[in-house]
Amino acid sequence: MNKDPIHVIGGGLAGSEAAWQAAEAGVPVVLHEMRPVRGTDAHKTDGLAELVCSNSFRSDDAQTNAVGLLHAEMRLAGSLIMSAGDAHQVPAGGALAVDRDGFSGAVTKNLEAHPLITIQREEVPGLPPADWDQAIIATGPLTAPGLAQSIADVTGADALAFFDAIAPIVHFDTIDMDICWFQSRYDKVGPGGTGKDYINCPMDKEQYLAFVRALLEGQKTEFKQWEGTPYFDGCLPIEIMAERGVETLRHGPMKPMGLTNAHNPSVKAYAVVQLRQDNALGTLYNMVGFQTKLKHADQVRVFRTIPGLENAEFARLGGLHRNTYINSPTLLDHSLQLKSRPGLRFAGQITGCEGYVESAAIGLLAGRFAAAERLGQAPALPPLTTAFGALLNHITGGHIVSDDEPGKRSFQPMNINFGLFPPVEAPKAEGKRLRGKDKTVAKRRAVTSRALADCREWLRLPSRAEAAE
Ligand SMILES: Cc1cc2nc3c(=O)[nH]c(=O)nc-3n(C[C@H](O)[C@H](O)[C@H](O)COP(=O)(O)OP(=O)(O)OC[C@H]3O[C@@H](n4cnc5c(N)ncnc54)[C@H](O)[C@@H]3O)c2cc1C
Repeated sequence: MNKDPIHVIGGGLAGSEAAWQAAEAGVPVVLHEMRPVRGTDAHKTDGLAELVCSNSFRSDDAQTNAVGLLHAEMRLAGSLIMSAGDAHQVPAGGALAVDRDGFSGAVTKNLEAHPLITIQREEVPGLPPADWDQAIIATGPLTAPGLAQSIADVTGADALAFFDAIAPIVHFDTIDMDICWFQSRYDKVGPGGTGKDYINCPMDKEQYLAFVRALLEGQKTEFKQWEGTPYFDGCLPIEIMAERGVETLRHGPMKPMGLTNAHNPSVKAYAVVQLRQDNALGTLYNMVGFQTKLKHADQVRVFRTIPGLENAEFARLGGLHRNTYINSPTLLDHSLQLKSRPGLRFAGQITGCEGYVESAAIGLLAGRFAAAERLGQAPALPPLTTAFGALLNHITGGHIVSDDEPGKRSFQPMNINFGLFPPVEAPKAEGKRLRGKDKTVAKRRAVTSRALADCREWLRLPSRAEAAE
């Protein structure tokens, strides 16, 4: 067997988990972390898996919350990030919050103590050399500039972004289709389209003016000084466009031209909000051109004033941040491998997932896939019905790449959420159809119990019933 090590670049949430998983599979690992030799604008310590901001891994509810489910699947897969998190948790209601120093200290200690892991404190200045035949780049949102440039050279400059520009995403089944209608502007049938590719939400003049006022009055998050102000025409936040004049949005993303309200054809809408299908499952729609720095609570409040979105549930809210991430759906294969360079994988936030837990989960998968290859096996992909599989599928294929807006990238970072899973039928209670909140909770429970059973099978663990015997 080839005993050359797997090289993991970056000892953050993803790289630490990737190194652990590969070593636990019996493969030697060299983990390269540049801190403390070189720092980033956000990290403050030389600890591995440092949490740069909040100390929360979010909800730990594995039955009705998607990130809680991801926690549970990671625990089943022997995650180091989760075991260190569990060992250093602090009280936070239903959330899993951790003592950040204790957590990072435990991850560092476990990795240092592993007999198959060598940690090298050095910056990797460019792409891995050719003799690193199995490598994982997990250098995160603040990847050092030299390596970022090399990634841009190999992927093409357009495929690496240094800021995200996130528009909110809405669960399709919470959009009121008695108010909205499907239509592409001028019924245009684009590549792969039908002429009915967008969901349209109509506004009259009064609603539009009130909406613009609400955008201007809403509270915004500020950029950190080191982030700079990355505004460029083509991805301006919606509220900045609104500041340029009351009619600006009506001539931009909210223009009503070429659209006829299917519910009221004789009345022309004064403005229209469009949503475009975001995933192949058709469960998620993104609000076109609605990237924003409004605070999350204000986004929910203001966007629910849009006709048809009064009861919208958001799978993701908008944002604009300093980030470094690649256009994974076009660049990576299903095992996170760069199509143009087999043996080189990406993991963590640089793949276009978002958040500590998601980054660690993608690191876990990359570590397992690389180890399997080193051991001469084909990487076993997690089923789509699991949180692992749903997140992986978003990154490597489930997201629909839009090509009808030249110059823009539709692939934007994403947290795990229920819209990424194949839908289930809502179970009935005593033969009766459930409604409202009861229906939502029952559907979530059905998705999570299917996910945990399928995850156990994927990991070849005994089922819960077998384990209880
Ligand atoms: C300011 C800021 C605030 C954030 N707040 C939150 C939050 O509150 N909650 C949340 O869930 N997520 C937050 N995030 C996102 C968070 O960074 C990620 O979720 C998570 O840390 C990503 O994990 P990762 O392993 O991909 O990257 P990181 O954890 O950043 O790890 C990458 C590692 O690679 C190292 N590295 C970089 N380049 C090189 C190189 N060339 N050679 C060697 N080593 C290198 C870095 O030093 C770092 O240790 C925030 C991000 C930023 C920038």
